[in-house]
Amino acid sequence: MRVRQEVVRIPILPFGLVNAHLVLGTDGAILVDAGLPDTQDVVEQALRARNLAWSDVKLIVVTHAHIDHAGNAGRIRALTGAPVCAHQGDLDHYRQHKRMTFCATGAFGRLFYRTGLIQRAYEPFEPDILLSGNQTLDLRPYGVAGTVVSTPGHTCGSLSVALDDGQALVGDLISSGILLGGIALTGRAKRPPFEDDPSRVADALDRLTAEGSLHFFMGHGGPLPASEVRRHANRLRQGSGKRSAGTSS
Ligand SMILES: [Zn+2]
Ligand SMILES: [Zn+2]
Repeated sequence: MRVRQEVVRIPILPFGLVNAHLVLGTDGAILVDAGLPDTQDVVEQALRARNLAWSDVKLIVVTHAHIDHAGNAGRIRALTGAPVCAHQGDLDHYRQHKRMTFCATGAFGRLFYRTGLIQRAYEPFEPDILLSGNQTLDLRPYGVAGTVVSTPGHTCGSLSVALDDGQALVGDLISSGILLGGIALTGRAKRPPFEDDPSRVADALDRLTAEGSLHFFMGHGGPLPASEVRRHANRLRQGSGKRSAGTSS
């Protein structure tokens, strides 16, 4: 029987608005996403609540280069001493060499873009483990039964963590709730405020469910069961998630 590993939600912002996650394996913990700049105290609280220290974090997986996921990666790496795993598709953004593209998925995305918060610069960093193409990373050396997989679509370098027990941590491949996510209606999937390529998102979500992911944790809102994830992927494919242009930078 596969042992279910504990996934701990770290509230980078309250109400599920912005989440990072800790996966507690049999022999170590990994952090999935590093959160907004200067939010290390929230991460430390989550570790302390489980009698863990910074040094118990064996790996930091950054799902993509948006500031709410990657903005504190340099700082958390310094605190933990753990390597950072990320995908080459977003490397220019981790290095802060290139501005990101923000394709708004609706009115909230357009409004949010205008606040300027999402495109703020953050401390650049160089990933220690850089995946490219469909390359994967086995998490067993870090004490966790699972794999880091490439799931492009939200951004071209988006990564997800698929655990052997059927839990998956997918960053912003899918969201739930209202506004940025969280708050209310968290059982209903929706597109995040920005999404580069909805058809690639649908492909990535379908691949994860086909390969056995049952329970999805995400950066905004969640968690969601595979049935809702499949429904969302179908909606994206049918074009009901219409793209709104106009906020590319
Ligand atoms: Zn994002
Ligand atoms: Zn996000």
